[in-house]
Amino acid sequence: MQEQTNRQQESILQKENTVYRSLDVSGTFRVFMGDMTGMAEDLRKINHSTPTATAVLGRVAAGASMMGMMAKGEKDRLTLTFNGNGPGGKVVAVADSQGNVKAYMENPTIELPLNQAGKLDVGGAVGRQGMLTVVRDFGFGEPYVGQVKLVSGEIAEDITAYFAASEQMPTAVALGVLVDRDMSVRRAGGFIIQVLPHPDERVLTKLEENIGKLTSFTSLMEEEGDLLGVYERVFEGIQMDPPIVSHPAFRCDCSRERMEQALISLGAKELEDMIREDGKAELVCHFCRRRYLFGKEQLEELAAQLREEKKG
Ligand SMILES: [Zn+2]
Repeated sequence: MQEQTNRQQESILQKENTVYRSLDVSGTFRVFMGDMTGMAEDLRKINHSTPTATAVLGRVAAGASMMGMMAKGEKDRLTLTFNGNGPGGKVVAVADSQGNVKAYMENPTIELPLNQAGKLDVGGAVGRQGMLTVVRDFGFGEPYVGQVKLVSGEIAEDITAYFAASEQMPTAVALGVLVDRDMSVRRAGGFIIQVLPHPDERVLTKLEENIGKLTSFTSLMEEEGDLLGVYERVFEGIQMDPPIVSHPAFRCDCSRERMEQALISLGAKELEDMIREDGKAELVCHFCRRRYLFGKEQLEELAAQLREEKKG
């Protein structure tokens, strides 16, 4: 039964996402630009999220994916945590260096009216009274932790502020999710453009002019039809290196072993209470909602292990 549910879950996670990463030929800026429609739709299905929450999850996941790809080491992991004290609760996304992402939101069934601009109220759901925390874990030693006060809770602006404050890099970030009438994700994605040291002023002026003309990322995708079209439009009149194309995905790395560790960390007494009261334990992964069932015997084994360790 559990096997079956997990297999069903895998079968819904199949849409491809595409990210272009490139530089302009003068080395003035670098760009990550992604069509993350599949990723946002995966998150919606897993979380049964409302349109506002889908927009929150889709934007945070797209941002994390592209930031994850900025890693210097292959084993690096990036975690974005938006803690804005809004009704949607905390939002967390974890990305690896290939841009694969897992994400969750405390309250994905939040319903809010559209904001004053007639858009899904992402900032209202996330909240504005709090922090964005960015953790880069290198797989060894101390992780790097950066923090910035939330600007609007709209995600892209907050990530821009993070790059300005913590990494002193002038950065333009656009992230968007367009939800269809049937609540599925019609378009999702965005870009992160970063100005490099010693920019060519003419290229920079042209880039600013181009960006200044843009509306939203999802409306660009609607107009152009695909990522290549958007890319060519954003960098019109600028000579670009050929982009490196990759296909990140929603991916959760939870496992039975990890869940066992979580149970063990509760301690022997808690485990014994569990055995006495329920005779079993069911753990659900926050990120992918996969269920892990532990029977009485397995719990007893874990409790026995703990008692042994204590003695030893
Ligand atoms: Zn999981």
